[in-house]
Amino acid sequence: MKSGLVIAIDGPSGAGKSTIAGLLAQRLGYLQIDTGAMYRAVALLISRAGIDPSDVAAVERLCSNVDVRLEVVDGVQRVTANGQDVTGQIRTPEMSLMTSRVSALRPVREAMVRAQRVMGCNGRVVLEGRDIGTVVFPDADLKFFLSASPEERGRRRFTELLAKGEQVTLEDTIAEVILRDEQDSRRDLAPLRQAEDAIAIDSSGLAIEDVLSTMEGFVKQKL
Ligand code: C5P
Repeated sequence: MKSGLVIAIDGPSGAGKSTIAGLLAQRLGYLQIDTGAMYRAVALLISRAGIDPSDVAAVERLCSNVDVRLEVVDGVQRVTANGQDVTGQIRTPEMSLMTSRVSALRPVREAMVRAQRVMGCNGRVVLEGRDIGTVVFPDADLKFFLSASPEERGRRRFTELLAKGEQVTLEDTIAEVILRDEQDSRRDLAPLRQAEDAIAIDSSGLAIEDVLSTMEGFVKQKL
């Protein structure tokens, strides 16, 4: 039986979903489910297997027994794909674009949505992604749609990538964020879109704490 809320946070790349979802989950004692990390892990497996994403039959074979897991180790979320820790390899700019391509494929989405529903069905979860409120948990107790201007999102991603030692430019990073938004919004399956009953929050110019306290206000009303 469900014993707590299912909270969905959707929105475009770089809107701050992971940071906010992590902090909100921590404060509530809930599990954070970073669905983007799951799609990234599958994209890495596809890439490592040398599969061309246009070869849907090969993608389908890979997805038929893919095992992607999210675990918290010493307070840090780790992602494993078929038993291997891939946390450090999934966040490069190349992998971001590859993930955006691969996540449009039906076998990939079906496998990930199935896994996400199993992880979230008991409640006490904060799921972040693109289609949580529209497809994965259309009956989620609370849905947020977090956005920010493309420039601000690009700047945030740039800072993150620099901190990880990636060689990137601000211009390229903003371009990557815009391209991914376009691909994610235009695809046929589960496109990035705000659910009708989602609460929209524009985080441009807002501090993390402001966004969190707004969300916590809504959570309190629900509990
Ligand atoms: O959230 P993150 O930037 O890590 O997501 C990487 C990519 O995974 C997105 O650009 C999108 O193509 C895909 N994704 C998705 N559905 C989700 C989460 C992520 O298609 N629920």
